[in-house]
Amino acid sequence: KLNSHPAGRHFLQIPGPSTVPDRILRAMDYPTIDHRGPEFQALGKKVLADIRKIFQTESPVVIYPGSGTGAWEAALVNTLSPGDAVLMYETGHFATLWKKIADKLGLQSEFIGNDWRRGVDASKIEARLAEDKEHKIKAVCVVHNETSTGVTSDIAAVRRAIDRARHPALLLVDTISGLGSVDYRHDEWGVDVTVSGSQKGLMLPPGISFNAVSQKAIAASRNAKLPKAYWGWDEILESNKNGFWPYTPATNLLYGLSEACDMLLEEGLTNVFARHQRHAAATRAAVEAWGMEVLCQNPAEYSGVLTAVVMPKDASGQHYNADAFRKVVLENFNMSLGQGLSKVSGWVFRIGHLGDFNDLTLMGTLSGVEMGFELAGVPHQKGGVLAAMAHLASTAPGAAKLQ
Ligand code: PLP
Repeated sequence: KLNSHPAGRHFLQIPGPSTVPDRILRAMDYPTIDHRGPEFQALGKKVLADIRKIFQTESPVVIYPGSGTGAWEAALVNTLSPGDAVLMYETGHFATLWKKIADKLGLQSEFIGNDWRRGVDASKIEARLAEDKEHKIKAVCVVHNETSTGVTSDIAAVRRAIDRARHPALLLVDTISGLGSVDYRHDEWGVDVTVSGSQKGLMLPPGISFNAVSQKAIAASRNAKLPKAYWGWDEILESNKNGFWPYTPATNLLYGLSEACDMLLEEGLTNVFARHQRHAAATRAAVEAWGMEVLCQNPAEYSGVLTAVVMPKDASGQHYNADAFRKVVLENFNMSLGQGLSKVSGWVFRIGHLGDFNDLTLMGTLSGVEMGFELAGVPHQKGGVLAAMAHLASTAPGAAKLQ
């Protein structure tokens, strides 16, 4: 084993969990307090107010101790009844997992198929809803940032499609990997339930997840008949009015959340989004210079969170193995890259450029990738790192020529 005690910091360049910055680690390193006492109450009120700003909503945001998968389930069980039809869109691995949950819960899910290289085509949703004259479809579920492919879908366009079809279906959106990295507007885009998680753009460890809920979603929850206990919004929203939870909340993760919101709001969401887009563009410049292909085929949908790279093919037409390549990078450079999931397994790897991430983190990341190609014998053109560096230098905000 080459790096049993590697010096320096591990490069966690998977598309989440992302690196937890020192400021958040320190904020969580504080004694756990009485979750029914006044100190906690102040914290609870603060995080419940701050998190709304991150979702760009005036509506309540429910915070669960639980992974994103739990928050997916919560979005469905709070708003729907057994046998309800839901229209979902196959953008990739995570959209497929959400559909499986819907099926396990006894919903009638319908999948609009896609080739995992582009995002949601809102016109297909509009056409399907227009056919549904009896309004059997109760919800449209889409993934905003598909973490398995590096494709970001246009949620405002989905909202317009639902409105054009004059259909009353709820709009449920997963932005587990988009929130806090790429622009997301719960209110402006008319989303009814937004699902998210802690371990990506919020820069926290895994362990808490979210449902931002519209008034229409809360109204639907009063008649929804799927069984729910732990995930039920009603008691949580009631306790949250006073800054508390009806059970033991994840106190130390909430310390971290408070700090994360401070960090994002101090930088300013617009700046956070621009930073991510700039790093994504520099990453794509590297991929292009290497003579390789990005998995996403629609430039308007390139993700600011991660870039999925297609491995080149050998003389027999087989892709070089992405996982063997990732192993070389991990063992030599102490960097984790994201694996290809399910349909794209073995021929795609993913570079996460999200969260607590700056120009030099990107340069280190891309250097590890380019050196990894060399060591693994993956054919590539030199100069990806230089191309990314040129992009960063030409777009740096603080250029100051000495003469
Ligand atoms: N949805 C998306 C888009 C994700 O990226 C993930 C996790 O990576 C999930 C859902 C599932 O979340 P979790 O693994 O926290 O349950």
